[in-house]
This record gives sequence, C-alpha cells and structure tokens, in this order.
Amino acid sequence: MTELKKIEMIRRLAGPASPIGDDCAVLEWPGSREDFLVTTDLFLEDVHFLRRTHGPADAGRKALARGLSDIAAMGGTPRWCFVSLALAAWADEKWLRGFYAGLLALARRNGVELAGGDLARDRRLACDVTVIGSVPRGKALRRSGAKAGDGIYVSGVLGGSSLGLLNRRGKEWKRHLHPEPRLELGRYLRGKATACMDLSDGLSIDLHRLCVESGLAAVLDRPLPVFHGAGLDQALHGGEDYELLFTAPSGKRIPALWGGLPLTRIGTMESGKAGAIDFFGQKLKPKGYDHFQQL
Ligand SMILES: [Mg+2]
Repeated sequence: MTELKKIEMIRRLAGPASPIGDDCAVLEWPGSREDFLVTTDLFLEDVHFLRRTHGPADAGRKALARGLSDIAAMGGTPRWCFVSLALAAWADEKWLRGFYAGLLALARRNGVELAGGDLARDRRLACDVTVIGSVPRGKALRRSGAKAGDGIYVSGVLGGSSLGLLNRRGKEWKRHLHPEPRLELGRYLRGKATACMDLSDGLSIDLHRLCVESGLAAVLDRPLPVFHGAGLDQALHGGEDYELLFTAPSGKRIPALWGGLPLTRIGTMESGKAGAIDFFGQKLKPKGYDHFQQL
C-alpha cells in the first residue's frame, strides 16, 4: 500500500468533512482576523538523516526547516514550534546541544519561538516537530485552487538535494543539508497563486498531489530548471528540494526572477483525468519519494 493510498484511507476514516490534504491544517479561530496553520513532521534517524553524515546542528536545522517549508507553502508566517525527541543512547549531551543550537538558530532567524515538546528514550533517534503559524483569514494558499489554463511554476532549481545525497560534496551537498524554506516567496504569492505546495518528495509526485486536489491534469511542455550537474530524473523525481510549486492564471505576471530566485513556468493545468501528468507527450508517473513503496 503506497503512502498516497494510506493517506486516502485515513481521510476516509476521518470523514468527509476532514480538512486533511494540504501542507498545513488551516484552523479558524472565531473572531480572529487570522487563521492558524499547523504542520507536524517526523525526522527519523536513517530515514531523514544519517548520524555519519549529518552533524547535530545540521540535523536540528533540517528538522525545523521541513515544517517551515510547509508554512511557506501556505503563504503563512511561522510563530511557534514544539519539538519532541526520542533520544538514542549514542546521542550525548554534546549532540543534544548541537541539535538545539542548529534548530534554534533557524527558529530565531525566522521569528519562531520554541514553545514546548517532549523527551523520551528509544533505540533509534526520532524527532517530531510541530510548527504553528498564521495567515490572514481566508488567504491561505491551498493545493486545491488551480484552474484549467493556469500556468504551473517552480521556484529555484530542482534536483540539487537528490544529487547531493548521492555524491555528498560541493554545493549540492550543502543544498541537501541546508534547505532554505521559501517563506517570503510564499507570502508574496498570496493573492497571486491559485494553488501552492512545497516540493518535499519530488516534482512528479508532488505535482500529482496538487493535480488530484484541484481535480485537474497537468501538461509539462517547457524546460525544467535543473540544478547544475543534476540529471533530468533527479529534477523530476528527486526529493527534498523544498522549493515552491504553484499555479497562477496565465494572464498574471510572475517575474522570472524574484529577489534573486528564479520563478520558472514549466507547464499548464488542463482539464482531464485528475492527477495525470503529461511530460513532453509522455505519461509521467508519480515516482518521487514514498516511504512505503517497497512494502
Ligand atoms: Mg509539504
């Protein structure tokens, strides 16, 4: 059973009114001019990081960056985080200090306060980070808002993180270790983009998810912005680039460069089988990262 099928099953169990399906839950607070955004992400030893290659500060930074990227995808501002850690025996005091130093440096840079968490012990290190943010009432960017004819865009260049994981050197390894949550871009896209999400698992699977939520198909018929040295497969299916994938009406002017960051149109949303992606005339299967693909 794939990750997508498991999520579908949980959504059915939670009932038709369940809002599951975006990068964050959007919670309305009566009387408030803002909505709350809540996201939670697991960060596991040997799954999301390796003890051999990820220093403690790198691990702490990355554990939080994933949640901040989800807030960015909704056009929000992150406010608080909660960090729960199950510590393995190898994680000594020095490691713990380093982990929180990395996490807190990124938190402070983005105005995020560590508001709580839990500590326990286990055989392998496991971490869960919850981030709470806010967005003006009704303005959150969602995956479901794309319309037929909208242009499909990505920020930055793709495949760098996947290449870095492979060769563990140079700019690409830095890209993998230190993903940059696109928070300012997300807020800029409020009122411009019709749908948005972050690229955490790979363009082919994430675009498929956006198409399913919007009930549309996608046609990719323009060159992809590929990280220098990465292959097309890495740009299409590689995970953890943490760039933003968004759609905007064809008439809407989206600058090719925004604050030094390229914004590239890569295709068009079309009516058709929900979730189907055509890549230069070929059917593109969602092949990005799926935790359960081999199970
Ligand atoms: Mg996400």
